[in-house]
Amino acid sequence: MAPRVMSVSGPIPPERVGFTLPHEHTGIHLWHVPDRWDYWELTPDELTIADELRDFRRRGGSTLVDLTPPGVGRDPDRLRRLATRTGVQVVMGTGWYRQSYYPAEALIDRRSVDDLAAELVAEFTDGVAGTGVHPGILGEIGTDKPWMTAQEERVHRAAARASKATGMAISTHAVMSPVGLDQLRIFDEEGVDPRRVVIGHADSYPVLDHYLAVLDRGANLEFDFLGHRFGTEEAAEPRLVQLVVELLERGYAGQLLLSQDVCHNSQLKANEGFGYTYLQQHFLPTLRTAAVGEGEIRQMTVDNPRRVLTIP
Ligand SMILES: [Zn+2]
Repeated sequence: MAPRVMSVSGPIPPERVGFTLPHEHTGIHLWHVPDRWDYWELTPDELTIADELRDFRRRGGSTLVDLTPPGVGRDPDRLRRLATRTGVQVVMGTGWYRQSYYPAEALIDRRSVDDLAAELVAEFTDGVAGTGVHPGILGEIGTDKPWMTAQEERVHRAAARASKATGMAISTHAVMSPVGLDQLRIFDEEGVDPRRVVIGHADSYPVLDHYLAVLDRGANLEFDFLGHRFGTEEAAEPRLVQLVVELLERGYAGQLLLSQDVCHNSQLKANEGFGYTYLQQHFLPTLRTAAVGEGEIRQMTVDNPRRVLTIP
């Protein structure tokens, strides 16, 4: 089969993937998660989300990767409807998020790695039961803490084996610590090509040596909290821009990805947030001011996500 990108509307030729947001959500529910008393949600209202996605499209957006895992709001039929309504090409993830979010029915602690991997491969091959919608990437899968639990290790190994069996890339959740290196170690033990791995949420751990360690192992590094305003992100952005420029100057443009991880109602334009256009309206102009060239911006926002999403 020719190389292709698997969207929720079916396979598409990689060259049709343009400006891409590689780590987003279009609906999330976390109320059932123990101790998650502080969270509201990303609205199930389809028309609101469609308006926000159309705004992304109008400004030159092409493709959006929805990494919401099963159990916290993934809805394949809804994703396909959103794609049809808006003209945005949507790629859906698969896998399990992090231990405190694993749905009880997934029985992660009772099944073998191969059994878990077989479920992911079956989704890729046959589509999500009853929908005909196929995932195009593994993720987001991650660690809840700065270490990897036994169940999380099982999920990472299952994702690795599913990646090798299907060609899908793996996108991770790794926050406020160098835990992304633990993820890479597991993938390496399983024989995954690091170029098929995206270590996510790099902006939450702004340490140059950590970035270099991930990049020098050959993996991709993703800054995907851009535009977040939940804590100190706004104050931290100038330093983050410096770090991205430093990585570009050192020649890593081919391994960097940028996204916004919209995951909460407060981020929508309907609620005075940046919606899905923080990169287009704010962050990329800031990079240009920092003398980042159009070629590098295109690599990070078009070429790299296209390469990651292409099933060889
Ligand atoms: Zn996310």
